[in-house]
Amino acid sequence: GLRARQVHEDMERGGDEGGGTRIMVYVRLRPMSKKEKEAGARSCVKIDNKRDVYLTEMALETDYLRLKRLRGRHFAFDAAFPDNTSQQEVYQTSAAELVEGVLDGRNASVFCYGATGAGKTHTMLGTVQQPGVMVLALKDLFTKLKQRSPEGEHVVRLSYLEVYNESVRDLLSPGRPLVLREDARQGTIAAGLTQYQAFSADEVMTLLHKGNTNRQTEPTRANETSSRSHAILQVVVEYSVHQDFGKATRLGKLSLIDLAGSERALATDQRTLRSVEGANINRSLLALSSCINALVEGKKHIPFRNSKLTQLLKDSLGGACSTAMIANVSPSNGSFGETQNTLHWADRAKEIKTKGSEVNDELQLPEDQDEKTKLLMQIQKENQ
Ligand code: ADP
Ligand code: MG
Repeated sequence: GLRARQVHEDMERGGDEGGGTRIMVYVRLRPMSKKEKEAGARSCVKIDNKRDVYLTEMALETDYLRLKRLRGRHFAFDAAFPDNTSQQEVYQTSAAELVEGVLDGRNASVFCYGATGAGKTHTMLGTVQQPGVMVLALKDLFTKLKQRSPEGEHVVRLSYLEVYNESVRDLLSPGRPLVLREDARQGTIAAGLTQYQAFSADEVMTLLHKGNTNRQTEPTRANETSSRSHAILQVVVEYSVHQDFGKATRLGKLSLIDLAGSERALATDQRTLRSVEGANINRSLLALSSCINALVEGKKHIPFRNSKLTQLLKDSLGGACSTAMIANVSPSNGSFGETQNTLHWADRAKEIKTKGSEVNDELQLPEDQDEKTKLLMQIQKENQ
């Protein structure tokens, strides 16, 4: 309809508008899984023109034995990837240009958002046979670095960390939780985080897979492979370029983020510990949604300090950084609610344009464990 066309026209103008850079938003639909097929799932997501996403809910009319369309919605994104899209194509469309920017000395970030099982880790990390954005980005980075800096005067440093239950951990050398602090030049940094110097993409692949086995993925009732952790890969590239006036150093930072499942943790009826963890996961994702809302509304104060995740993502969302978001969805009608929720936030994220300037505003948590749990439960309840 008309609205759809307007969205397209708006989006035609691309990333830069009125001085700010808007987040590029993509949607990736994964294939129906064997389990979903066996359960008789129907597809409720359709992708057209590589950018239109239609979400429809069908119901079986038992009287007539036919499917009736209950409700539907149309969304348009910078690109929408149908279920047969290759890893390479996802990388080329969503991240390749950002990697180029990093080599020019800019900061960039790509993050995957969606419910558990929607395909975030597949998109970000992938498998040895089908490497994902993290690996393809590094491959590309090394290839382009060799062209730009043939004498090999470059350094690529990697760190891989996770935010789990509001604590930050090093995935490359697991140990004590890390403390976050603000650095005037580098933004938020995790003190003591391993910076691994990498020389090739193959080596990175092994490293990342090893790092991923260190992620906290305890089974829950809702989903055996539920991931409650946010994984962040940070790549810093530093190299010298020869210019008329001499040598200059270029420094760029790329952040690749695999967010925890966006489904509601308490809906799975878990016991206290899990609920606290759920509240924390929600607190991080909730803080992310508050930041997105505040950015969209052009608010002066962006509440980055409300969670570890948003503290770490601060320069990806509000700073001098180009950002892409990939929203992952399952095609199954059994995931209708989750998909609707994911598409809602993805749609909202399209509107983020301006840089936010924030003041410190940290939510103080009570020392007492019971009080803390109560507060977290309350925060979660308020945001359901
Ligand atoms: P998440 O990280 O969002 O919880 P995963 O990436 O682990 O989800 O995906 C769940 C399952 O679906 C995995 O077995 C994964 O291999 C498979 N899968 C996800 N996306 C795709 C895809 N685009 N093509 C094929 N299989 C996929
Ligand atoms: Mg995952």
